[in-house]
Amino acid sequence: MSKEYVRCLSIAGLDPSGGAGLLADVKTFAALGCQGMAVATCLTVQNTLGVCDSTAVDAALVERQLEALFDDTPPHAVKIGMTGTAATVGAIARVLDRHKPPFVVLDPVVASSGGFALAADGVARALVETLMPRCTMVAVNRDELSLAAGEPPAADHAAAQAAAMRLAARTGSCILLKSGHFDETKDDVLLTPRGVAAVAPGRPVATRNTHGTGCTLTSAIAAWAALGLGMADAVREAKRYVQQALNSGRDVAAGRGRGGMNHLFAPRPAVVR
Ligand code: PLP
Repeated sequence: MSKEYVRCLSIAGLDPSGGAGLLADVKTFAALGCQGMAVATCLTVQNTLGVCDSTAVDAALVERQLEALFDDTPPHAVKIGMTGTAATVGAIARVLDRHKPPFVVLDPVVASSGGFALAADGVARALVETLMPRCTMVAVNRDELSLAAGEPPAADHAAAQAAAMRLAARTGSCILLKSGHFDETKDDVLLTPRGVAAVAPGRPVATRNTHGTGCTLTSAIAAWAALGLGMADAVREAKRYVQQALNSGRDVAAGRGRGGMNHLFAPRPAVVR
């Protein structure tokens, strides 16, 4: 037996509503034809109205779960979302050093859209100093860029691109600047220290079912990278997938708040290679 599934691993928080976090990631992996694996860093209490609590899983248990997977079915790509504590960031970094997966994308989740803190003290620093240098790509919005760069929020899109290039130089990771916070019509931009590596166009979708959009974008990037696309194409395809999932979940009543998108609007059969 020499064939295998294309495997993706999500290391993220559990959102029991399924809109964001691990469940959104695994649905995205499956929708794009990949086999999904998942290790929970935190258990949250939330629904479509927002997050109201979160408890971290013990970092040593996270590390043992990761070891068990890497030892047996090593992922072709890893997506890291909510980490929760600096101890868990350290545990993930050790696993990455031991196993060196070919592609790692980080979504440095520190707060929900509603403003609930999803990271303990010291996590932002640990993400920048410990995790980002071990990642292929880091996806940030304006606030996350400001936190990671240790600078005030960028005044405009040009200033954000310059800050993202500096962060790329400092961490050695490519930075995907998510541009929605500046202007919904602005494209997302992938930056290296040398400049723009890719532009991912997107159009605003009129829907309130936007819960988990950021989680889904980075898990789709991981899936496309695992399937063999280069970084620029993976970002463009992932953005296209998010737009389609948002569009097809646009008119669905999903809870009293911000529902999730329709991840499984057109699932691909599992890719075996
Ligand atoms: N819960 C978990 C586990 C998450 O990872 C995230 C975001 O990444 C959220 C909640 C917040 O999602 P949103 O920004 O859509 O409110």
